[in-house]
Amino acid sequence: MSTIVSQIDLLPEVQEFLGRSPLKALVGGQEVAASNGETFQTIDPGSQNLLAEVHNLQPDDVDRAIDAAADAYRSSGWATMPVNKRSALLHRLADTLEAHQTALAQIESIDCGKVFAQAEGDVAACFGTFRNFADAALNIQPYTELAIKNHESRVVRHSWGPCGFIVPWNFPLLLLGWGLAPALAAGNTVVLKPAEDTPLSSLYFAHLAKQAGIPDGVINVLPGIGEITGAALSANPKLQRMSFTGSPEVGRLVAEASGRNLTPVKLELGGKGAAVIFDDVDISDTADKLVQAITFNTGQVCCDATRWLVQKNIYDQFVDECVVRLQSVKIGHEMDEGTQMGPVMNQIQRNRVLSYLEKGKAEGAEMLLEGGAAEVEGRDGFYVKPALLSGSSSNVASREEIFGPVAYLSTFDDEGEAVAMANDTEYGLANSVWSSDLSRCNRVAEGMVVANSWINAHNVFEFGIPYAGINKSGMGGGVNCLATLMDYYRDQSVTRPL
Ligand code: NAD
Repeated sequence: MSTIVSQIDLLPEVQEFLGRSPLKALVGGQEVAASNGETFQTIDPGSQNLLAEVHNLQPDDVDRAIDAAADAYRSSGWATMPVNKRSALLHRLADTLEAHQTALAQIESIDCGKVFAQAEGDVAACFGTFRNFADAALNIQPYTELAIKNHESRVVRHSWGPCGFIVPWNFPLLLLGWGLAPALAAGNTVVLKPAEDTPLSSLYFAHLAKQAGIPDGVINVLPGIGEITGAALSANPKLQRMSFTGSPEVGRLVAEASGRNLTPVKLELGGKGAAVIFDDVDISDTADKLVQAITFNTGQVCCDATRWLVQKNIYDQFVDECVVRLQSVKIGHEMDEGTQMGPVMNQIQRNRVLSYLEKGKAEGAEMLLEGGAAEVEGRDGFYVKPALLSGSSSNVASREEIFGPVAYLSTFDDEGEAVAMANDTEYGLANSVWSSDLSRCNRVAEGMVVANSWINAHNVFEFGIPYAGINKSGMGGGVNCLATLMDYYRDQSVTRPL
């Protein structure tokens, strides 16, 4: 296996970081190896080249890391410092991330197979999230006096203590920001386990956080395999709150483990989003936007629109417009100039996408655009072509999350049928409705049983708009808004009868 550094123009800073392989965890401000010395490999999905060996943290390491986070909660001063000082430190962290944006984006790009410009966007989302929550925390009252007859009473806001986070491989840094920023802004300490496919940006982030002056032990990053490191993290009773982003299957395991400890858990899980497209849309513009959405991050996006429900009389024209655009998407290595769609994450993911195409076809789906494995000259990566299927909404490819650049089209006659079809799913993450009739858009948006409805757009993320999942897509609150921050305060009532 050759190394990435020989093939790609990486910043010296990134080369130096990768050159420290085998990379260790950062716990209590110190680099820590796995207690049994075990490591795993992380590779570039666009070439299968080795990026680094990474320590696989063991259950005893995880317990020590949570103790370090608990110690830092008690004694680093993080939880007790004035909120403006803590927010100032989080702004220094955001500034440091911004100053290293290109390095972080290179690391994220080659570890995820993510198109470099998109990785830059993820880094910006990460430091932007730290700034948003640092500012939001300044406006939270530490005490709220209650107006209660014959009583002097108030609510006091504390933080909780050490909080756990497990994230997937599709948006490591962005999800790190969404998870850690509100917890830290409220005064908690954190322990993060990144996905084993993409541990690099989180580890580099931890070093930058130390450099920015975040006290040792406040941020701890534990690379490791899900069934070992992740399972040990979610089972630890010293965690005060647990947050998991990933598949519904693993979400259930994490919720069970947290439930045994009565640790509140938040789950952000998968999706099978619908885009409902009425016949009064600008067909060309809608095709542009949905093709962009389905190819963004090679379709490995939980909130993607993967079921395209199209009003019958524009179906043929809409399909033609989408096929033309999808055929011209430039597939390539994530760091190569002009690449619009990179590889999928790994061989398992590529097989998953290809097998859904087969299963969908076997159940009678029409292949509007064949899809399949893609070749990229000189790069032995996990590439797939975009695909479009159509047919009955009971088809397996219309019901299950594929997590690739694959959309499934079905037709409808009227609004009532469209809403019923959109709601015919176990998931409840994000849908969109497309029409020039805004009253209809609002009716349909509110009628869809889903946590997030978008109008004439898909994938809308502005700070302050709650983003969450219901049903098989998640539980326990959302991210990216004020309510997320409030979750990380422990409210206590203090009362004296008069
Ligand atoms: P996954 O569930 O396989 O893994 C997610 C994380 O869980 C990884 O860090 C993994 O190491 C860890 N893990 C695995 N087994 C574990 C165990 N037994 N105990 C504890 N942790 C364990 O998911 P994935 O394949 O990495 O990511 C894809 C899934 O994530 C998709 O379903 C996608 O829709 C979902 N996702 C959801 C959101 C959201 O905001 N709702 C965002 C991104 C991804």
